[in-house]
Amino acid sequence: MAQLEDDSILRCEACGAENARDAETCRGCGRALESDDEDDDEDDADDAPAATATEAGTKDDGGGKRGEWRGILVIGAVFSLVLAAWFLWNPPKPGQAPGASTPASNDTAPAVPKPDNEVKEIELAGDVVWVGTSKGLFAHDRKTGAVTQSIDAASGAPHDFIDSLLVDKGGALWAGGYGGGAGVFDGTKWTKFEPSTTGNQTVVQIFQDHAGIYWLATAGAGLFRFDGKTWTAYTRQNGLPSDEVNAIAEDADGALWLGTSDGVVRFADGKMKVYRPSDGLANSKVLAVAIDKQGVKWFGTWGSGISRFDGSSWRTFAALPEGPRSPFVVSARADGQGRVWFGTHDGVAMVDGATWTHYTSAEGLLGSDVYAIEIDADGNKWFGTYRGVSRLDSENQWKQFPH
Ligand SMILES: [Zn+2]
Repeated sequence: MAQLEDDSILRCEACGAENARDAETCRGCGRALESDDEDDDEDDADDAPAATATEAGTKDDGGGKRGEWRGILVIGAVFSLVLAAWFLWNPPKPGQAPGASTPASNDTAPAVPKPDNEVKEIELAGDVVWVGTSKGLFAHDRKTGAVTQSIDAASGAPHDFIDSLLVDKGGALWAGGYGGGAGVFDGTKWTKFEPSTTGNQTVVQIFQDHAGIYWLATAGAGLFRFDGKTWTAYTRQNGLPSDEVNAIAEDADGALWLGTSDGVVRFADGKMKVYRPSDGLANSKVLAVAIDKQGVKWFGTWGSGISRFDGSSWRTFAALPEGPRSPFVVSARADGQGRVWFGTHDGVAMVDGATWTHYTSAEGLLGSDVYAIEIDADGNKWFGTYRGVSRLDSENQWKQFPH
């Protein structure tokens, strides 16, 4: 497959994600990637098997030549069984990077950035841009882009792989790690939450609601509520449809909207209402949630595009021209002008009323996978990719903050 994009990158044809050239499976959708160094030539009869092993609507890109040699089919079948078994045992998680749990060195500027040096979260605090990556936590100066501080597990962060960040109402920085629970940084020291509190799971989002309550979404241990003293866990045992909670947003009525791996949950007054594909949601695996200025809810799904819910009816935007360039939608933010910005495995899609606008590396993104979006008080949009952060200002000018 023609997945080559540049010397160091393989782009997945199924989801658009950019992968390390030596990667065997796509970190975006879990599909098998072909090594271009070995038996590529013109022989394309492969990698359809992986589509059956991945979940959630991965589209087969078709075109597999039929009537190839029987030997290739047998090898393909065996390969797909092995792959399916591997995925059953170890299902791919969105954003999971190969080798993510191995301790990383704390260099801040690798000579050749690799796709696993992913920006997972951006958080703004005055003139500081906190950037959480798969290789540590960095403070950038908002104007110059210079790194003013770098923090890794050795200096107290919950993990070298930072998956979530929050600057809370009191100004403290919360960070959630990849399998390392969460911690709070007051500027000089870290307080870590014991693994038993967060289940030692990857904390994928940390959110503070209008009442100041903290909510931590985890990739396997459900949702945690923390009022400053007491932790409360919400899991499948007490009403969540899935223990994988991928995203949290709050509406104007104070209801939480959760994107989980088995539908959307509206959570208010202790009651959960679940929305699934049978209700109109495009895909049960929801990775991103945003609520726009009019109160409309938007959900980014894993493999089926974007669903919109106005409180009574659902509509899905799955592909171009009305919808994202990639159906794998991994981040979302609403701005103050009624627009919603989505990060996908193939750039950023922005919807303004009925109009969709797309941004890729041709416009100014440093990389095509956009796991993090943040919008500051001046209306600047900050996008996180594996090559670093790109900023789009309100005059449509781009500035890059590479690793
Ligand atoms: Zn992929």
